[in-house]
Formats: sequence, structure tokens, C-alpha cells
Amino acid sequence: MSINFKKSYKFAIKSSFYISLFATGLVGILLYLFYEINYSFIGLFGLTTLSFSFFVLQYRVEKFIYKRVKKIYDDVSLLDSTTLRSQPITTDMATLTREVQKFATDKKIEIETLKIREEYRREFLGNVSHELKTPLFTVQGYLSTLLDGAMKDKTLLKKYLQRAEKGVERLIYIVKDLDMITKLETGDLNLEVSEFNIIEVVQNVFDLLEMKADEKNILLMFDRKHPKPVLVRGDYEKIEQVLINLIMNSIKYGKQNGSTEVSVEDLVNNKVIVRVTDNGEGIQKHHIPRLFERFFRVDKSGARSEGGSGLGLSIVKHIIEAHDERIYVDSKYGYGSEFSFTLEKAS
Ligand code: ADP
Repeated sequence: MSINFKKSYKFAIKSSFYISLFATGLVGILLYLFYEINYSFIGLFGLTTLSFSFFVLQYRVEKFIYKRVKKIYDDVSLLDSTTLRSQPITTDMATLTREVQKFATDKKIEIETLKIREEYRREFLGNVSHELKTPLFTVQGYLSTLLDGAMKDKTLLKKYLQRAEKGVERLIYIVKDLDMITKLETGDLNLEVSEFNIIEVVQNVFDLLEMKADEKNILLMFDRKHPKPVLVRGDYEKIEQVLINLIMNSIKYGKQNGSTEVSVEDLVNNKVIVRVTDNGEGIQKHHIPRLFERFFRVDKSGARSEGGSGLGLSIVKHIIEAHDERIYVDSKYGYGSEFSFTLEKAS
């Protein structure tokens, strides 16, 4: 940003005019009283006083103000000390003005950033405690009921302990997600890039989630056979996490007897695109822009049994972006959704 430093002579002109008016008047009166009045002498005297006082004022005042401001400036050590040295004073004033202005702008930006961070922190903490509260109270509820006497009933004892255990599992799940998102958002998570077969990773995730899919009789499949490996470059574990989250969502929000299809296709520029398509409940258009936000859920009530931490998709987005790749979503409400992401092909 360039700041025009406007040099002003107004102060010096006005002040020197008053001084010379006074001095010339005084000299004129004294001459009139004690000697003989000489107009050319008075004129010359007036002009000399005017120009002399103008220069003194202009230079001295500027220097005085400059010194004072610079001292304040130096006291708060804002200025790079080399910026001002050995320059004529007027240029120095310009530099000083520019530096002060720059300082003010920088501070403003800094304050804005801090405000945003503070807001983020507050919101994050609020969300975290909200997320943890429900499973914690569930666990506490079952344990208290058992301690209050229900434990004497053998069937209740087992049932409530199992429910409490489910609550603890959910807590662990949320804490793990929180841990992951914190690492991702603070940039603490370094990628361990290697070359691997993406088809194999998808197959592993299918195997891992098969039981979960079976509960809803959802079929996990590739769109076609992949007899040859498709080698990509990336962090194996993180990409596996992406696939787990996406395929898990396709099951959670998929319909009974539905299917989840994964396709891996070549793209231009040495990339592949991995698509996870389901024929589940789909997502309304207006929810799509917020889908990747932390803690965003379409169903806010949390009443659904499937509810996760609301962090799954933001974790996915972070991981894909850390790879410098892109993630896309396409969904038709009532028909299904497709989440896809790109990866670099290993050459
Ligand atoms: P959650 O832990 O709630 O699943 P996510 O970040 O994984 O959190 O997903 C955010 C929201 O996006 C979900 O609550 C759900 O409403 C919606 N969503 C995600 N994936 C799908 C999908 N395949 N089909 C329909 N809705 C989905």
C-alpha cells in the first residue's frame, strides 16, 4: 500500500508571517519614535524576517515532531532501525508516516486473525463438549441405574453393561476423530508418501466394513474388475482413512438392501479419480456447501442411531487437501450420493 506523504508549509508560512508582521511593526514604531522612518529598510527587514523565520520554523518544527514521533516509535521497537538512517528529514517523515501506517494495518490484520482464531476455539470447544456430553450421560445413566439396584437382575446387568460399553466405544470414536482433526488442522500431521495399489486399499476397506454393510444388507462392490493393480502416490494410512470414512458414510446413510459402488478411473495429468457411489438417502442441495464443515450433520437432532461425530467428511477433506488433491460431491436427494477424490498416479 502506498501512502502519499503530503508536506505542508501552511504552518510555517502563517507563523513566520505573524512573527515578521510583529517584528516589522515593532521596528517601524521604534524608528518612527527615535529616528526617521525609512520604508525600504522596513520592507527589507520584513522580507528577511519572513524568510528567515519561515525556514527556521519549517525545518525546526518538522525535526522536532519527527524526533518525538520517532522516539515513541522506537520505544515500541516497531521500526527497522535502518529504514530511517541517513536520509533527509523530509523523506524520513514520509518513511515514518508510511511505517506507522503499515504498522497499524499489520496490527489490524493480526487482531482480526486472533479474533477469528478465538471464535474458532470457542466454537470448537463448544462443539466438543456437546459431542461428548451425550455418550457420557448415556454411560453414566446405565451405570447409575445398575448401582441403584438393577444389577441384581442378571439380564438387566448384561444389557445395561453392553449399552454402557457402546457409549464408551462411541466416546473413543469421537475422541479419535477429534485427535485426528486437531492434528490435521494444526498441521501436525506429516504425510508419509509411498506408492501403493489403490484397488487393494479399497478391497481392504470392503473387508473391514463388510459386517457393518451386512447389517443393512448393503452390497460393497467395484464397478468393474481390476485385474491389474492401479498404483498411486500418497499416504497409505490416510487414504485408507478417507475410504473408510466415505464407505462407512455410504453404509450409514445408505438404504436397506442397497449398494455402494467404488470406481477407479484414469484422469488426465497423471491422476486417477476414485468414486464412492451409493443409492442411499442422498443430500438436499442446500446442505451440500456445508457438508465438509466440522461437526456438520444434516440431521441435527442426533436422534438417528447412525450419527457419527460429524467430523468424518472434514477429516476426508483435510487429508485430500494435504495431498494437494481435490474432493467432489454430487448428490440427488432421495436417490443417492457420489463422493469422489483425485490421487496422483505412480509412474
Ligand atoms: P457423520 O459423523 O455425521 O457421518 P460426516 O462428516 O461424515 O459426519 O458427514 C456429515 C453429514 O453429511 C452426515 O451427518 C450426513 O448427513 C451427510 N452425509 C455424509 N455422507 C453421506 C452419504 N453418503 N449419503 C447421505 N448423506 C451423507
